[in-house]
Amino acid sequence: MSYILISRDNLFWNLNQIAAQAQSLEKIALVLKDDAYGHGLKIVAAMAAEAGVRHAVVRTLQEARSVASIFKTVLVLADIPDAVPEANIRFALNDLGRIDRYPEGCGVELKFDTGMHRNGIPENLADEAVARARDRGLKIVGVMTHHRAADEMGSHFFWQKRRFDALRRRLEKRGLDGVRWHSCNSAALFRTNCFDEDIARVGIAAYGCLRMPEPFKLPELRPVMSLWAQRISTRSVTPEMGIGYGGEGHLATEGKVSAYDVGYGDGWLRGDAAHPYRLPDGRPIIGRVSMDLISVEGDDEAICLFDDAAEAARQFGTIAYDVMVKLHPRIERRAV
Ligand SMILES: *Cc1c(COP(=O)(O)O)cnc(C)c1O
Repeated sequence: MSYILISRDNLFWNLNQIAAQAQSLEKIALVLKDDAYGHGLKIVAAMAAEAGVRHAVVRTLQEARSVASIFKTVLVLADIPDAVPEANIRFALNDLGRIDRYPEGCGVELKFDTGMHRNGIPENLADEAVARARDRGLKIVGVMTHHRAADEMGSHFFWQKRRFDALRRRLEKRGLDGVRWHSCNSAALFRTNCFDEDIARVGIAAYGCLRMPEPFKLPELRPVMSLWAQRISTRSVTPEMGIGYGGEGHLATEGKVSAYDVGYGDGWLRGDAAHPYRLPDGRPIIGRVSMDLISVEGDDEAICLFDDAAEAARQFGTIAYDVMVKLHPRIERRAV
């Protein structure tokens, strides 16, 4: 069966680069949502805890519960619990209109909209948000926002950061203390010269696939995930023999072609046979991608589909996140 290798060395390497930028390992909140960006929640959480990461960010309460015992805090981005869960699990409060649904005593982090206009409480309702959370008996343990374009050229990043800092000064003046303040995702952290927040919510950089426009300087980050497929069968073909559905695939000269056990049913993107995907070694996928199979020239026992999801994504005209999270959970993740 096809399999995914998860490189412990590369994850540790990336976490060290990130810790240097954030000024300590304690300031990393590793984003583990969506099965750790497809890497496997359990595997990555265990490795990260071993590396000394103390804080995690997930999407659902269920994800939080499965890693709560190994992190000091776990922030849930998009879920509301029925009852107060383990004490170290806290929830982003994305919308004041839903504040009544949080159980009394629940830990919340107020998420403000400082310019992305997708999610979060409007800044002008900040005082009201604090008052209502307190009235409801919620524990405010953090205040956060999200950058809309930290990975793009332009000033958006700076004005959102200024708005967040202004919000912080205002709420601190009104007596909100003992909470953690955070705005940065990976791109924002690496645009920051002197990191002055309590944690950074880092996902894609830890997985080694952060890409930024040319002028931005990044340390070397190493892709953690590689995808492999195994040979199912091999045949000899001549150039006139059409390979796969529609007979669209052809070899340029007589040779051997093998079928490998990965396809769009595994979450591998189907792409366009007329502009075939190329493996890291340069060989193209021959013809159409099937549900569970692809054809490649040669007869290697195993082939590497990608060892850098950002490069694979470039070929498909998408982003590394998209390539990684689509990979089916049934594909075995192996720590190496
Ligand atoms: C996914 C997410 C992050 C992590 O973003 P990266 O670009 O992967 O570092 C941070 N904060 C929030 C709110 C997110 O949803």
